[in-house]
Amino acid sequence: MSDQDMSGKEKTLFGKGLNPSNILPRKLTLESKIKFRCHPDVECFTACCRGIKIVLTPYDILMLKTRLDMPSHEFLEKYTTPVYLEKTDMPGVALKLREDDENKCPFVTPEGCTVYTDRPSACRYYPVGMADFHEGGGSMGEGGDHKDGEKFFFIVKEDHCKGFLEDKEWTVAEWRKDQGVDVRDEMNKEWLRLVMRRKSFGPQASLSEQAKRMFFMTSTDLDHFRRFILESSFLDTYIIDDETVEKITNDDVELMLFSFKYLANVLFGAEGLSIREDKIQEKVKEMNQKQNDTVTESIEAYKEIKKSRGEEIDPEL
Ligand code: SF4
Ligand code: SF4
Repeated sequence: MSDQDMSGKEKTLFGKGLNPSNILPRKLTLESKIKFRCHPDVECFTACCRGIKIVLTPYDILMLKTRLDMPSHEFLEKYTTPVYLEKTDMPGVALKLREDDENKCPFVTPEGCTVYTDRPSACRYYPVGMADFHEGGGSMGEGGDHKDGEKFFFIVKEDHCKGFLEDKEWTVAEWRKDQGVDVRDEMNKEWLRLVMRRKSFGPQASLSEQAKRMFFMTSTDLDHFRRFILESSFLDTYIIDDETVEKITNDDVELMLFSFKYLANVLFGAEGLSIREDKIQEKVKEMNQKQNDTVTESIEAYKEIKKSRGEEIDPEL
């Protein structure tokens, strides 16, 4: 039913637990067969929906807040808690567990998951994790195709999970399709790429506070991001064609995909967004002015020092 960790540790976003002893030492392909089934009659039903850190991707948040018919900020406040993503300094959110009720997920009931068709990506991966060596220099599990074909799958098997005792056999591809993982991978791909790219820089390089705030707002609160695009000087600054403006005004998924492009541009200088020439000129002028002001201030300070010492001042200054 869901990704899980009964030891209370964190799972990554990609179906890999942090406890490597749960990972079976066998590389799987999409054609590999697995034997597993999770359904309401398994004796462990919903046991995995507690004591687990479920990190949410922007698409997860979008699907859940739409299902619950809530604005982003309300969803974030009610159902999430802040976390850092994949051991980076990038801020994100995880589902807020019910501390007064065995640390259960807020959406679990004895009958199962109340948001099942919109459950988060992390809940869909178990028990098939994915490793992808793109961007992260060997990091486990980024969505999307890998140019060197180094993507493979693996089984995460935890003792309490009885789904492995069931007879149902699938290929990895069939399992992923059934769980809707392919769609999630596609939707999460560019955002995960940002996180893995940041991770590949290591802890030495840190994001500015402003960059962190921008990443958090853009990744978690699409309503806010839309206002930022449409109600600030954004459209006067960047060259965005009318069709794109129309799409991001009316379509949440388009807005989300655009937000990834924007983040890649502001955080890593990726191409794809251009600033208007007049804005660039304005900025250059502003920088030149600042530079001139600084030089003038230094000369004045120098003159003051000379004057206070009773020394002669070079008339050319
Ligand atoms: S079979 Fe595994 S995934 Fe399904 S409810 Fe039980 S512990 Fe969770
Ligand atoms: S969202 Fe659903 S599947 Fe995921 S942990 Fe919560 S109840 Fe379980």
